[in-house]
Amino acid sequence: MSTALARGLTRRCPRCGSGGVFHRWLKMAPTCPTCGLEFEQEQGYWLGAVMLNTGITEGSFLGVFVGGMIVTWPDVPWVALLVVGVAMTVALPILLDPFTRTLWVALERSARRWSENDAPRYPTTIVRAPEGDA
Ligand SMILES: [Zn+2]
Repeated sequence: MSTALARGLTRRCPRCGSGGVFHRWLKMAPTCPTCGLEFEQEQGYWLGAVMLNTGITEGSFLGVFVGGMIVTWPDVPWVALLVVGVAMTVALPILLDPFTRTLWVALERSARRWSENDAPRYPTTIVRAPEGDA
């Protein structure tokens, strides 16, 4: 695991590792107070973080629900499983939000850096010879 991803998983700035990127649990600073990294790059930037958060939450719900069914079969406590599952589905997104935001910044920046490094290092513009030169 890269250093940036490890920092992202622990609510730290993926670039410098500073821990002061949140004013409150759900209130992220627009830039890193230590290195000045601008977190939100464009409108809709946090959609990736929301996708991560939703995936982890729904995966956890599915794991608890199916795991609970398997462990208690054939006398499945449907109501208890549903109550626990709904409580998880409400609480987990709030608990995970800061972690998925910093993780998303780390993933997105790593992917962008990789794609920039992978870009061709020669000019891609085609220059045509003037008419008449053959
Ligand atoms: Zn930083």
